[in-house]
Amino acid sequence: MRPGRPYVRMIGMALVKCEGIVLKVKDFGEADRILTVLSGSEGKFEALARGARRPRSRLVGVTQQFAQVNLLLFRGRNLDTISSAELVSAHSNLWADVVRMAYASYVAELVDKMTGERERNDRLYSLVVAAFDTLDSGALDPRVATLAFEIKFMAESGFLPQLGQCVLCGAPIEQAVWFGPEAGGVVCGRCRPTVRDAVAFPPAARETARLLLTLGYDRAGVLKPREDTLDELEIAFRAYVDQRVERKLHSLDFIRDLRRMEQEGGQG
Ligand SMILES: [Zn+2]
Repeated sequence: MRPGRPYVRMIGMALVKCEGIVLKVKDFGEADRILTVLSGSEGKFEALARGARRPRSRLVGVTQQFAQVNLLLFRGRNLDTISSAELVSAHSNLWADVVRMAYASYVAELVDKMTGERERNDRLYSLVVAAFDTLDSGALDPRVATLAFEIKFMAESGFLPQLGQCVLCGAPIEQAVWFGPEAGGVVCGRCRPTVRDAVAFPPAARETARLLLTLGYDRAGVLKPREDTLDELEIAFRAYVDQRVERKLHSLDFIRDLRRMEQEGGQG
């Protein structure tokens, strides 16, 4: 037990209090759920919610994906058990809008797949809460909000792509035109022929990426990136993420289908 962690001992069992956000929910046994939770103080962990699928359970509302909750947990050897839970925010607008839900699912899956277990990180937690709050409030275009989250998350997790100079030869880049997902950053014209998976990355994409990294969500609304810039950033970042996860992110297929339907709808 680390010093400073709020806990009490009860019959040899530790009780831990924390605030967290539910990244993933899966059914377990006959009426239970297992949640994947991200918190600041406890990092990412799994917790058992006993009886949470019974309609009258007190845990029904608080064991939904995207919910921000205060938890009291029994610390188990392998799995924590939720003793009690209180809703901070359900982020219920995410459930009412399929587009916002698709992007929120991507945020949740990205964090789940790219974050280690039990690593305390208060800044990462604040970043994830801010992303869900922004998607929930609709203050920003969900595509912009998600790209802003992605690049902030990459920076916070220590895998920000190289954006200032060629990732291969270090040449300064004024007119970045390509991005190498596997190489991990922008690529100069001379190195371009050696990069198999290079994608377009014009100056507007690079500048937008830089601004999304530095501006808070409250100020990112002043950016009005063009649709093709958003497309370029999405293609580059998601190929880059793909290179760094063991298994593909399912939520990306959902976003891709939605975008295709939107585009087909727009043409018809
Ligand atoms: Zn180069």
